[in-house]
Amino acid sequence: MADTANAQAAAPGEEQVKNCGSCGKPVKRLKRFYRNGKFYCNKVCFKKWKLKVKTEAAEAAAGQEQK
Ligand SMILES: [Zn+2]
Repeated sequence: MADTANAQAAAPGEEQVKNCGSCGKPVKRLKRFYRNGKFYCNKVCFKKWKLKVKTEAAEAAAGQEQK
């Protein structure tokens, strides 16, 4: 009977860990950097992600022009 109660308990100490939207590393609660609905390790990763999106958009636009 004690076993059923044990199974219901969530892993203690394990909080929701979000992965960085840029490098994919898990971002811990205290260190997370939240921007535009995503979590990042820090400002640098956020900038990297922004640059990546911008580059991809530019490439997509260039690809469409060539067609
Ligand atoms: Zn990161």
